[in-house]
Amino acid sequence: QTKKDSRGQFSFFRPEMQKELQERVSLETELRHAVQQNEFELHYQPQVDMNSGNIIGLEALIRWQHPRLGVIPPAQFIPLAEEIGLISQIGEWVLKTACQQNKSWQNEGHSKVTVAVNFSAKQLMQTNIVQLVNNVLSESGLEARYLVIEITESLSMTDPETTITIMQALKTLGVKISIDDFGTGYSNLSYLKRFPIDEIKIDRAFVKDITTDPHDLAITKTIIAIAHCLDLKVIAEGIETQSQLALLIQQKCDMMQGYYFSRPLTAESCSQLLVENPSIKLDEIRQNKYQR
Ligand code: C2E
Ligand code: MG
Ligand code: MG
Ligand code: MG
Repeated sequence: QTKKDSRGQFSFFRPEMQKELQERVSLETELRHAVQQNEFELHYQPQVDMNSGNIIGLEALIRWQHPRLGVIPPAQFIPLAEEIGLISQIGEWVLKTACQQNKSWQNEGHSKVTVAVNFSAKQLMQTNIVQLVNNVLSESGLEARYLVIEITESLSMTDPETTITIMQALKTLGVKISIDDFGTGYSNLSYLKRFPIDEIKIDRAFVKDITTDPHDLAITKTIIAIAHCLDLKVIAEGIETQSQLALLIQQKCDMMQGYYFSRPLTAESCSQLLVENPSIKLDEIRQNKYQR
């Protein structure tokens, strides 16, 4: 392997490719197995209201608890799941689990929060998606207004007409719709105007350098201004520092999410957070005492 093999260099199928293929095949097999064995877990990241300092939402983020490799983040298996047709099953599990969990938190008597679930392209386009959401809501007993569906901008732009139709049907159920990773896709503003959405999430890419890069600050200001003109709420993702927070407060951003407030938490830690402090003051949040 350490010696350079000139034949290998020119052959189409290099040894590394063999290795990649094997890894992929085994990841595929293991992912199918994971779906059967239910090796997934949801973590929840608080979303904080800028005015009150209250936690008003929780974003559900999937993790794969691999028996041998440990925790595998979604970026490493969601695209594969989409490719090999497992995303509907995984997505359905996420939706059910998140709605049941939120309902059970509500039953415990804390102030009610929304739960945000990420939908992938294939999932949104699956034929029975509106029926599925409706069934999950009625089976879990969660009121529709406590479910937010996050859809990434780039995916919704590939087929805007169908996207609008499905969004409208979902809105009719009473769920909220949020455009995730806003600013990183095609950013077609005329589509944005036509989408029946409630909220946009400013991508972490803009928040990251907001205090040092005037362009990122300008973009963020503009996104917030446009959103407010269209009567949409704005949530900023990936807030890690107090100076980012201060700037976003100044810009009248409505909601915040990021490591600064809390990392994504296990359901258990999240329960504890809700029990201990259902209406955290921004000052307390600044101490970041709920880090996992
Ligand atoms: P996303 O929906 O944009 O989620 C935000 C991601 O940023 C999460 O990564 C979260 O842990 C991370 N994050 C939050 N705050 C901070 C911060 O302050 N700094 C930094 N550096 N990162 C922060 P995660 O959990 O690895 O998820 C990555 C992506 O995977 C998500 O991006 C979402 O697109 C996708 N995803 C997660 N769960 C699901 C799911 O259940 N279904 C589908 N289809 N996609 C999912
Ligand atoms: Mg999201
Ligand atoms: Mg996002
Ligand atoms: Mg993102």
